Amino acid sequence: MYSKQEYEKDMQFIAKINNLASRKLEYVAYYFGFVSCLLAHVMYLFIFRHYGVYVMAYFNIFSVIFYIAMIGIVKKVENKINLVYASIAEIIVHASLATVCLGWKPDFGMLLLMLIPIGFLMPNKTHRISILLMLTDLALYGYLRYVYSDASKILYNLDDNIITTILYFINFTIGSVVLIYITTIYTFLNHYTQCKLRVQNEQLRVMATIDPLTKLKNRRAINDEMKKVYDESKETGNTYVLAIGDIDDFKKINDTYGHDYGDIVLKEIAGIIGGNVPVLASVARWGGEEFLLVIPSCNIEKGAKYIEKILSEVRSHTFNKGDNVFKVTMTFGVIEGNAGSSLEKNISHADTRLYKGKNNGKNHAEYTD
Ligand code: GH3
Ligand code: MG
Ligand code: MG
Repeated sequence: MYSKQEYEKDMQFIAKINNLASRKLEYVAYYFGFVSCLLAHVMYLFIFRHYGVYVMAYFNIFSVIFYIAMIGIVKKVENKINLVYASIAEIIVHASLATVCLGWKPDFGMLLLMLIPIGFLMPNKTHRISILLMLTDLALYGYLRYVYSDASKILYNLDDNIITTILYFINFTIGSVVLIYITTIYTFLNHYTQCKLRVQNEQLRVMATIDPLTKLKNRRAINDEMKKVYDESKETGNTYVLAIGDIDDFKKINDTYGHDYGDIVLKEIAGIIGGNVPVLASVARWGGEEFLLVIPSCNIEKGAKYIEKILSEVRSHTFNKGDNVFKVTMTFGVIEGNAGSSLEKNISHADTRLYKGKNNGKNHAEYTD
């Protein structure tokens, strides 16, 4: 069951994120990602230049320009996910080339594997690009691992073990941080989406079951409720009370005080009915100015007490429109239902008694035929 507290908690979270998003959270996330990539490549550039790995140094000049361009266009590009795919492609080429140059010791290859989940965490309807990236990554990883484990195949054999170890830790750190960064954003956005879905579901449920004017159940919802009460009565053998109430001469109220004020009357009457039934009862707006209530596990004598209380509260309630003060009355048709006759029959039975009440002078309830 989705409680009111949970609904409010979800709403607060959504409002908080919407607020943050309006403060360009999205840009911050992209800028942070691309600026980090830029800094990492500047660092690689210096390391490769220092150790004379010129192929990589040149490639890193390209990478630095590439990330500066990314930062420059991130605001202008509509579909920013494409920029992420572009940088994943850059990392794949970088990692592969670095493995060709330096072999497996610095383990640039692990970046190829770390990129795979990132592709799938991107908010994309189809994962065609992610699957393509995964297959490319796996194929490259398998190939490079097999071929360049052989030290004689690599382009630059850095005898200095320290730098390959340092590069290994740099790669491990960068890969881990990127993975943690992306999964954190993903988890966060996922939570946000789920909250939104729960809230939208709840709003749809309310729209589908609640009458917007009176906030009582609508016809559809009370039908479901009555079926439950009916099934329960079949199981337990308990009777239930079903009452249909209709405001007397409501047309006159509309004609005299206007349709809008008629709506206010409907709301206030709904409040009186809703406030005078036991907790297990269900109340609905059955039609225009008609209300239906069902009280489970109840006999007609007990039910009559609730109905009479409602009638007397309605009678004594005063409505004020400008200088006009007036009162309203209602008529009820009440039956004691049991599993013996169908729900439809019971509803029509209550309706017949309501009709009888209208013919018998209104402003009261009928409990017999
Ligand atoms: P009776 O005592 O026999 O029930 O007479 P009545 O005038 O109450 O009954 P009638 O069926 O002739 O008129 C019901 C009126 O209720 C007519 C309709 O315009 C009005 N009505 C129905 N739904 C709404 C609503 O949502 N808002 C308002 N203001 N009026 C409504
Ligand atoms: Mg009426
Ligand atoms: Mg009516």
